[in-house]
Amino acid sequence: MGYEPSADELRHLNRCAELAAEALEGADEPFGSVLVAASGDVLFEDRNRTAGGDQTRHPEFEIARWAAANMAPAERAAATVFTSGEHCPMCSAAHAWVGLGRIVYIMSSRQLVELRAELGAPAAPVNAIPVQEVAPGVPVDGPVAALEATMRELHTRACA
Ligand code: ZN
Repeated sequence: MGYEPSADELRHLNRCAELAAEALEGADEPFGSVLVAASGDVLFEDRNRTAGGDQTRHPEFEIARWAAANMAPAERAAATVFTSGEHCPMCSAAHAWVGLGRIVYIMSSRQLVELRAELGAPAAPVNAIPVQEVAPGVPVDGPVAALEATMRELHTRACA
């Protein structure tokens, strides 16, 4: 059930992992996301910024707001959001409310919940509901095995 990305897709997913590493260096949580237009152009990217105390500062949420402010509805629907970890329910809802298109993630929420449990990290306050249960119209691909070890290592460091 894993997804085999194309070379271009893998490049965007690698950038997500880089952004996640940058977040961890900044004492934030290791998540990064990239918004890519139908043309293949990278439009916007961000990383987790929750260290300041606002636990809603997820990159996927920032992408949804950026898309709503800067893209026409048809452009949003044709765009793809690449992300290091599957959207949480808040971000899945924001993604669907602004009419964004496909999602490609490296690690699923289920994989992350299992890893965090293995590491003895506290459970999150929000259930890890899969994107498609929150936003059934959004095409979703993942997980991507080629980058899973990279993300597991970052999350393991984050929980240490
Ligand atoms: Zn989120």
